[in-house]
Amino acid sequence: ESGAQIPALVIGTGYGGSVAALRLAQAGVEVHMVEMGMAWDAADSDGKIFANTTRPDRRSYWLRTRTKQPLSNFLGFPLDKAVPRYTGILDAEDFSGITVYQGRGVGGGSLVNGGMAVTPRRERLGAVLPTVSAEEMYGVYYPRANAGLGVNEIDPSWWDSTDCYQYARVGRRHAERSGFPFVLVPNVYDFAYMRQEEAGTVPKSALAAEILYGNNHGKKSLQKTYLARARATGKVSISPLHKVTSVAPAAGGGYTVVIEQLDTGGVRTATKTVTAGKVFFAAGSVGTSKLLTKLRATGALPGLNAETGKGWGDNGNVMCGRANHLWDPTGSLQSSMPTAGIDNWDAGGAFAEVAPLPTGIETFASFYLSITNNPHRAEFTWNASTGAVELSWQRSWKQPSIEAAKTIFDKINKKEGTIYRTDLFGLSKIWGDHLTYHPLGGAVLGKATDNYGRLHGHPGLYAIDGSLIPGNTTVNPFVTITALAERNIEQIIATDL
Ligand code: FAD
Repeated sequence: ESGAQIPALVIGTGYGGSVAALRLAQAGVEVHMVEMGMAWDAADSDGKIFANTTRPDRRSYWLRTRTKQPLSNFLGFPLDKAVPRYTGILDAEDFSGITVYQGRGVGGGSLVNGGMAVTPRRERLGAVLPTVSAEEMYGVYYPRANAGLGVNEIDPSWWDSTDCYQYARVGRRHAERSGFPFVLVPNVYDFAYMRQEEAGTVPKSALAAEILYGNNHGKKSLQKTYLARARATGKVSISPLHKVTSVAPAAGGGYTVVIEQLDTGGVRTATKTVTAGKVFFAAGSVGTSKLLTKLRATGALPGLNAETGKGWGDNGNVMCGRANHLWDPTGSLQSSMPTAGIDNWDAGGAFAEVAPLPTGIETFASFYLSITNNPHRAEFTWNASTGAVELSWQRSWKQPSIEAAKTIFDKINKKEGTIYRTDLFGLSKIWGDHLTYHPLGGAVLGKATDNYGRLHGHPGLYAIDGSLIPGNTTVNPFVTITALAERNIEQIIATDL
């Protein structure tokens, strides 16, 4: 409530925020978390909390009147449709050169993501986090993060035989025939639950195409892991539908935090001002960068340095589909949880996730989300005349990502005698190069912050989310975001409390 004095305030309830809240609470600190999205803890009129990927409704999008599906077209038909404006779960946030997809709600991106829980290869960490000790990360913090997230591995013999991963086995066959290393990757979806789904003994989630707009069963989102443990300490409270708009030094020490309460139409219903001893920016790469860029430019936090808002990357995300021969069906039943990837990072700069296309019908299509070694880095800037934060990313900057992905798929197409799909992202368009699922950077570790996420110029302010990572993780990012948060909060608790 307005006027409250809070020892530690955490902005956002995604990976970074959840780690911070749990560890601070375990160290005896009272924590309050502020989350702009909804709680996602109550069933809607259809008896379900989350909407199905194939049937988007008001729950699906953050304050849009029309869906903006990552795959916008199918066989020439546009897929998007009108939905009521609502504080839904997936934000397709448009900047001039890129649409950045993000989760909104208690649990952040863990609510909407594919659950792929990938630890980067150790020899690649130097390029990902150049100022962080690999020994510490692989000895302590990656294992801690994987345990805290509930990461599990799929039984390879089941993967080899189940109908729901036929599409992934087609992906393997094509990758291996072209000589590419193919890897099974861990996930936070409970594979024991998935096998029960297949057996028909539990309500279906992954096998009912639930992914982009939330999973009603089976997925170990942060609500079920870090946040459940944080709440169980009795020291963590959460305000959903509350958005932080300002943080500034308070006269008597600590920070004045301004918070707007929203209704489910996105309209502000109240403005609250609290004082916090310490503030953890965990609003995600975009959310944290937007706040810090604005607060620096408007003079609210004048001590932030010139690195603020810089070093932002898209993790090199680019999508594409391939059209298979009739003798290579990918299956009408596809688990929505990806489990495999083609690793051509060292030779071609691409790691391609074999992604599901859970339409319920045979499509003869293989679909991929590639993570590539894209060198471009963008910057957030404050536009005083519009009162908005802008991002300098250019659409043409995806070209190196397309080239990297082509090192895999041109070769596979040649070997298999197949072609790219041209119907998934609009008319005659091969590449999904307009988006990212993996925003990273904007408050880069060791640049805008010290080597543990302490923001320069303002003691007691920290960045502790994907904004710390300089634009690329070589694989899907949330395990690295979680492990880095574990590393940083341990140091902060030991020295700053
Ligand atoms: P987030 O998880 O984004 O959390 C930030 C939170 O802060 C959000 O809940 C947001 O609503 C809130 N917030 C923002 N601004 C404010 C404010 N001003 N006030 C209050 N609250 C605020 N990664 C993987 O590793 N594997 C995958 O399989 C994978 N699949 C993905 C699929 C999709 C469709 C998407 C969108 C992402 C996927 N990701 C995946 C990426 C992963 O989800 C993100 O990297 C991760 O969630 C980022 O964690 P974070 O802690 O930085 O921030």
